[in-house]
Amino acid sequence: MAKKWVYLFTEGNADMRELLGGKGANLAEMTNIGLPVPQGFTITTEACTQYYEDGREINDEIRGQINEYIEKMEKITGKKFGDKENPLLVSVRSGARASMPGMMDTILNLGLNEDVVDVISKKSNNPRWAWDCYRRFIQMYSDVVMEVGKKYFEELIDKMKDNRGVKQDVELTADDLKELAYQFKDEYKEKVGEPFPDDPKEQLMGAIKAVFRSWDNPRANVYRRDNDIPYSWGTAVNVQSMAFGNMGDDCGTGVAFTRDPATGERGLFGEFLTNAQGEDVVAGVRTPMRISEMEQKFPEAFAQFKDVCQILEKHYRDMQDMEFTVENGKLYMLQTRNGKRTAQAALKIACDLVDEGMRTEEEAVSMIDPRNLDTLLHPQFDVKALKEATPMGKGLGASPGAACGKVVFTADDAVEWANRGEDVILVRLETSPEDITGMKSAQGILTVRGGMTSHAAVVARGMGECCVAGCGDITMDEENKRFKLGGKEYHEGDIISIDGSTGNIYDGVIPTVDAQIAGEFGRIMAWADKFRRLKVRTNADTPRDAKKARELGAEGIGLCRTEHMFFEADRIAAFREMICSDTVEERVEALDKILPYQQGDFKALYEALEGNPVTIRFLDPPLHEFVPTEEADIQKLAEAKGKSVDEIKDIIDGLHEFNPMMGHRGCRLTVAYPEIARMQTKAVIRAAIEVHNEHKDWDLRPEIMIPLVCDVKELKFVKKIVVETADEEIRKANSDIKYEVGTMIEIPRAALTANEIASEADFFCFGTNDLTQMTYGFSRDDAGKFLDAYYDNKIFENDPFSKLDQTGVGKLLEMTIKLGRPVNPSLHIGICGEHGGDPSSVEFCHKIGLDYVSCSPFRVPIARLAAAQAAIKEREERKSMEILLSSKSKKEKVLV
Ligand code: ADP
Ligand code: MG
Ligand code: MG
Repeated sequence: MAKKWVYLFTEGNADMRELLGGKGANLAEMTNIGLPVPQGFTITTEACTQYYEDGREINDEIRGQINEYIEKMEKITGKKFGDKENPLLVSVRSGARASMPGMMDTILNLGLNEDVVDVISKKSNNPRWAWDCYRRFIQMYSDVVMEVGKKYFEELIDKMKDNRGVKQDVELTADDLKELAYQFKDEYKEKVGEPFPDDPKEQLMGAIKAVFRSWDNPRANVYRRDNDIPYSWGTAVNVQSMAFGNMGDDCGTGVAFTRDPATGERGLFGEFLTNAQGEDVVAGVRTPMRISEMEQKFPEAFAQFKDVCQILEKHYRDMQDMEFTVENGKLYMLQTRNGKRTAQAALKIACDLVDEGMRTEEEAVSMIDPRNLDTLLHPQFDVKALKEATPMGKGLGASPGAACGKVVFTADDAVEWANRGEDVILVRLETSPEDITGMKSAQGILTVRGGMTSHAAVVARGMGECCVAGCGDITMDEENKRFKLGGKEYHEGDIISIDGSTGNIYDGVIPTVDAQIAGEFGRIMAWADKFRRLKVRTNADTPRDAKKARELGAEGIGLCRTEHMFFEADRIAAFREMICSDTVEERVEALDKILPYQQGDFKALYEALEGNPVTIRFLDPPLHEFVPTEEADIQKLAEAKGKSVDEIKDIIDGLHEFNPMMGHRGCRLTVAYPEIARMQTKAVIRAAIEVHNEHKDWDLRPEIMIPLVCDVKELKFVKKIVVETADEEIRKANSDIKYEVGTMIEIPRAALTANEIASEADFFCFGTNDLTQMTYGFSRDDAGKFLDAYYDNKIFENDPFSKLDQTGVGKLLEMTIKLGRPVNPSLHIGICGEHGGDPSSVEFCHKIGLDYVSCSPFRVPIARLAAAQAAIKEREERKSMEILLSSKSKKEKVLV
């Protein structure tokens, strides 16, 4: 039997959204529950995929079924394509599984030609309406099907209005519109080289093809990538009988929400426009009326619409976003979907639905898109002020938040100005590890170069600081501390505002308001915590970050990067002395200067965590990242070491590596310089003993994490140094403190030999940034340069550095667990890469049985919610599997 490519609205339902798309499934559902829906049929998403497989052609089988369904539709509506008595006019509408508002195309009034215009004009005694429909159809068809620019048609309309001395479309007469229709057709013929098609069936096939094709238009591709919608899904096409909102003053068209999408407040919210069609409401052709005013103008239709709203909300048990049309006072429903909403509204609606008895707590938790929470956690621009401002430039919204301050050009200036109490925005060509303190001091960071995974972007997200990266329109003159953007030159001290969500850059001050963790937010998070299994830790290097993360619900530190501690002004000098030492003794002497600082840092971290686990990773980056670049600093270092400037420069040059990401870093540093690990171990253990003595009730058990291990012998070697040093410290202090030694799994070989490594490790933690980098074999600092070409050519749909690659890298994760756990049943396993805060990656981590994810402080609530959703989903799936199995076994029993 041939595959079924087409469904009548009466044949589908809301559960069929994968096949029928969201719009089609909901049109079917509304039909089923008896709402007034103009009838029609849906061509499936599979037909779209088939269209692409067939080289962008609709094959004969699908064509055949479409023709068959046109006949069925003609029977149902009692109208016929091209008929002299009762002609059928339809809309052709795209509709993907996930709603992609405004991304694809719609054509209205299809089926018209001059004969049909004549028929409907006479029949309705309304030639103005008839010609209005026709000129709209030609316009949309040309735009969508033949890609003849909209602009030409709009120019023609404007010209006509000028000639007639009128302001609005509705003031044009039937004759004006007729003339416009002819002009449009001429325009079409000139641009396309063929006359405008008259045959409705030919028009329909052209339109269907165009909707399929619009799945692949550039704005749809970008939208999908931003919203995690796979290209492979395809769009369905809905062919629907027209309802006319443009037949006169007892007609109109509107859009409405059952609750306010900005705040979540209950109550109808929307707009209505009389004598109008389609996008007129949103396109701003005329100012629409508020939905409440509709009550006076269309009392009957309004009363009916209010009922429909209630029915739909009850039915879908969620806030609905609806499109409808009133034709001669009668209501037609054209679309409903769960409405998009702000994060704030999402939380309020979910809580209200629970209170109204419509949803369970589990369902409420599952309704919130974790990615949305981000916007709630950072200071925000005042919405009204933002609306009134015009951006002067745009970069990548690399780390959300709103920042406003005086422009500074160096990290040192940022620190200095911030210390005097100024708010600053650090503007750099790009940032480097040296800039960290300056970045921290700034309200926000703006860079000229670099992508979403550039240093500035990653670090800013980690710190929860606003960052706009890669604004290539800036002409930068760092040396003279000035830059040009949007035709204006900015100097040190000038005020700008940047929006880390949109990437917009504004001149001057835009006031901000503090992020609020409102009551509903707390309620949802408390529910989430009840349902999740996965623990959530944070990546934090400072007590300040750790405290913030604790406020946001972190249950421990999964990654403390100790190198950041070396960059602080009072230690970097000693660390550089260490690097430029000739002997072990000299190195130890330099390290001893750092020891008390590190010990103090760790102590503060343990205190901030109040007995919750703290994982401290030993020194990871290559040493060249720490050496001075400024002449004055080199001079200082030379003096401290009693060496000449040239000698120091030779040492620095000697640290140069061709491939630093795969160079002398991670545990390889300890293998060469065991004294570094010794110092860090002392600091970890001494701090722990101190805190343990002050807080006997805390279950303090520092976790020492060795980075970049690829072989068990490497881990054994480093562990021996750690254990000897630690045990000696504990013995000397006569303490009973416990500690753990584990390793990062971030090199493919470590994953492949996890059974051997597990015998030496108390825990594993996946460093999925390096693991992704090394599994793919491309550098995350350079990938930004070519990933766009990969997206354009459909090789990749996402950046594997922000969304965990479950197929490849994920397989290594699963393998590691499978190999490691049997060898060491008490092994605990987590993840601390950037992926730890990405919802789909968190779901994967739950599935493969990790103990915890660790992410930057501001992503902690996102991870908590995502972990809860993963657990709820798993339980649901198990439940339906059990039901399936039990019904199967019942059947089998009957058979026996
Ligand atoms: P989008 O997905 O961009 O919202 P739609 O397919 O919903 O596109 O169509 C846009 C608008 O066209 C609808 O809001 C509605 O006003 C109008 N429209 C679509 N189909 C019909 C129809 N059968 N009758 C009347 N108006 C329609
Ligand atoms: Mg719509
Ligand atoms: Mg790493």
